[in-house]
Amino acid sequence: MAASAVQLSSARRLTVKIGSALIADADTGEIRGPWLETLIEDVVRFFARGQQVLIVTSGAVAVGSYHFKQLDRSLRIEEKQAAAAIGQVRLMFAYEQSLKRHRFGMAQVLLTGADIDDQHRRLNARSALQQLLKVGAVPVINENDTTATAEICVGDNDRLAAQVAQLVNADVLVLLSNVDGLFTEDPHKNPLARLVPEVRCITPEIEAMAGHSPGRHGAGGMVTKLMAARIAMDAGFDMVIAKGNKSYPLAAIEKGGPSTRFVPLAKDSG
Ligand code: GLU
Repeated sequence: MAASAVQLSSARRLTVKIGSALIADADTGEIRGPWLETLIEDVVRFFARGQQVLIVTSGAVAVGSYHFKQLDRSLRIEEKQAAAAIGQVRLMFAYEQSLKRHRFGMAQVLLTGADIDDQHRRLNARSALQQLLKVGAVPVINENDTTATAEICVGDNDRLAAQVAQLVNADVLVLLSNVDGLFTEDPHKNPLARLVPEVRCITPEIEAMAGHSPGRHGAGGMVTKLMAARIAMDAGFDMVIAKGNKSYPLAAIEKGGPSTRFVPLAKDSG
């Protein structure tokens, strides 16, 4: 069956997840402001077309870690939690400034796994997110890393984004990452690795392709993206993974740039 590109323009509601490697400069931990501007221009364009966008952003730990740069080792859990608290403020400020330039409001929403698991808290979160969209404040969501302990954390924003997309009945989840999508093998190790444009079933072969490749600051990798894809496919919405490091990353997907689309079970080629 021929692969069909996901149509972002026909989605009523989209959740877009931004990976740490996109929002934070790997060497300095600075927020990549000019890139963020182009992402927000994309988001604003979607709203202008009558679509709604929720953003799930990583990067708090990546941005805040640079306060600990004198430590020549990886951060302990409590240091990461502190880094997240520092980085989260900067992150939200950057999103707010960028959205404000387009006369959009924004709202920070911090969730933990426990919020999603508990029915009351989950429904509260859903109502609040719906209200935010109604009043035109773009929800910018992250995990509450400072309070999330091992038992209650989602741990990666790929799954958190899928859970949020499910919560608000989004039609499409876009995971913007530092890779074009799912490859048949690790493209860094094998130049002959091919991009898989479409997945309709997560078979053991697909799982084997994901391997295990967490980034420097992000918690994810292809394994958690596949977990997110399972949530999406079961819940009945499309998910797409695409490289987001260039300017206007959502427009690039709309123009047919490289990506992997995960087609939900109960959907035709659409
Ligand atoms: N919540 C983490 C942060 O803001 C990122 C988790 C992830 O990379 O998936 O730094």
